[in-house]
Order: sequence, then structure tokens, then C-alpha cells
Amino acid sequence: MSELHSYAVIGHPVKHSRSPFIHERFARQFDLNFSYGRIDAAPEAFTGTVHRFFSQGGRGLNVTLPHKQSGLGLVSQLTPRAQRAGAINTLSLLEDGSLAGDNTDGIGLVRDLVDNFGATVAGRRVLLLGAGGAARGALEPLLALQPSTLTLANRSADRARALAAEFAASGELHGCGFAELQGGAYDLVINATAASLGNEALPLPASCVDAQSFCYDMVYGATDTPFVHWAQQRGCTRAVMGLGMLVEQAAESFFIWHGLRPDTAPVLAALKVELSLQD
Ligand code: NAP
Repeated sequence: MSELHSYAVIGHPVKHSRSPFIHERFARQFDLNFSYGRIDAAPEAFTGTVHRFFSQGGRGLNVTLPHKQSGLGLVSQLTPRAQRAGAINTLSLLEDGSLAGDNTDGIGLVRDLVDNFGATVAGRRVLLLGAGGAARGALEPLLALQPSTLTLANRSADRARALAAEFAASGELHGCGFAELQGGAYDLVINATAASLGNEALPLPASCVDAQSFCYDMVYGATDTPFVHWAQQRGCTRAVMGLGMLVEQAAESFFIWHGLRPDTAPVLAALKVELSLQD
């Protein structure tokens, strides 16, 4: 009998991760048989836990907070997109026993925005909120879609300015603090901050959005996040959460590991039901 390959998501905390749910449903689409678990590892235990997982037959890991940057130090190969993002979310075992790292968050965001929601980025004024790992990973894929301008705003304005300077060669981009957002409504506003996780609204000028703006919060939940509420209160009819990004980044990891592209729509629908039942 052939050995069951094992995969997992590693994070801290990780018990609420939906990745096992998603990968198990992708596997059913192809009659694949593997295990996919959750591994909780504190920062100081991360490296040892990863090495143990792969030495015991593990094939792939999804890496989530707070390890996305530490994962960079463990790989012998890194894709250009992970290199540019400065973080990994996918580790794969190579034939020589070393590890390859990739980052599928950016492509997951773009697929959700463009394929699932039909949002247009080309030629539009885009506002990206945040300057942490999620914003960094989103910058290059968004700039590749050629927005007319991309503004990066963050609570710590200096972080936004530094990040914008780092990516200046890739497109029309500038960084600032929230209070400096005085140039009128944006077509697309993406919240890549963790504020909604703490149930906090962002101190954004109301003029950032109008009824036509498309607002996207990377944070998701069973009920609308404070950012989605804020946008709706300002008349936005399209204000959504990033559950689809989670499913799309998982689909790209699945493709890296298994060479197969799952149908994400039924899995996203099942996950929405699962979320609504649990809250
Ligand atoms: P991170 O590296 O820790 O960065 C956190 C960012 O949020 C920073 O820009 C920080 O601003 C800002 N922030 C935190 N609390 C804030 C508050 N109360 N008010 C205003 N700004 C605040 O985290 P990350 O990896 O970038 O992740 C950001 C969020 O994206 C997380 O909530 C994560 O769940 C979500 N995410 C979702 C997906 C998905 O698949 N849907 C994928 C990746 C990430 P300062 O610089 O001022 O501290």
C-alpha cells in the first residue's frame, strides 16, 4: 500500500484555520487521498517543527501568521513573486530533500477581485490600505494590472512611504498616512490591514469612497467587518470580504503541490455555509 502523503497549515494560533476544509474539498474533486492537518508552532518552535514535519514524510505546508517571513530562511528555492513579496505562504518538498517557497496570496487576491467579483483594475484609481505582509504581497500583482494610480496608505505613514519607495520602479505608486487621503473617491479600495480582526474601523476620510467605489476587506467573517460597514454607510453597494482570496490562494498552493487546478466556486460556496453555521 502506498504511503499517505501529508500536508498541513502551520501558524500560531491556527485552530480556526479553514485551510483543511478547503484542501479536503479540492482533493475530492480529483479523488486524491492525502492528509491535511493544522500545526500550531510558536515563533521559537517554527524552524524545528517545519524540519520535523518534512523529515517525517510531509510534502507541503501552508504557512500563515506569524511565520510568513521566517519561512524565507528555510528554502533553497524561492519563486520571484515570493522574493518580491518578502514572504512565503507555501512550502514544498523538493526531490533533494530541500524546500521550495512560494507566495500565492497576491495571485489569490487578484483572482478573487477580477475573476470572482469582476472588478477592473486597469486604468482605475486604486487605494491599498496597510503596509504589512499582505499589502506587500498585493503590490506587485496589482501594479501588473496597470491601475492609473496606486496609493498605499497606512496607520504608520512612514511604513507606507518606505514600501512605496521600494516598489517605485514597478508603477505609479505613492505612500502616505490615512489623513493625507484628500484627493477624492477611489475606484477600488483594498483593506490589507488587520484592523477588522480587532473589530476596529479605520480613520479614513469619507471622501475616499463614493457609491461607485468597490471596497474589499482581506479580513472575512460570518458578518460584515467594520470596514465593509463603513463603506456601506457611505453608499458603496459593492463592499465585500476576502473569503474568496483565501480559497484562491489555496487553489494556487494546491496546483503547486498536485499539478491540478480545482474548481474554486463550489468550495467557496461551501465555506460560506460553514462560516454561517459556526457563528
Ligand atoms: P501584518 O504584517 O501584521 O500587518 C498588519 C497591518 O495592519 C499593518 O499595516 C498595520 O499598521 C495594520 N494595522 C493593524 N492593526 C491596525 C489598526 N487597529 N488600525 C489600523 N491599522 C492597523 O499583517 P498582514 O500579514 O499584512 O495581514 C493583514 C491582514 O490581512 C490580516 O488581518 C490577515 O488576516 C489578512 N489576510 C487575509 C488573507 C486572505 O486570504 N483573505 C491573506 C493574507 C492576509 P502599522 O504598520 O501601523 O502597524
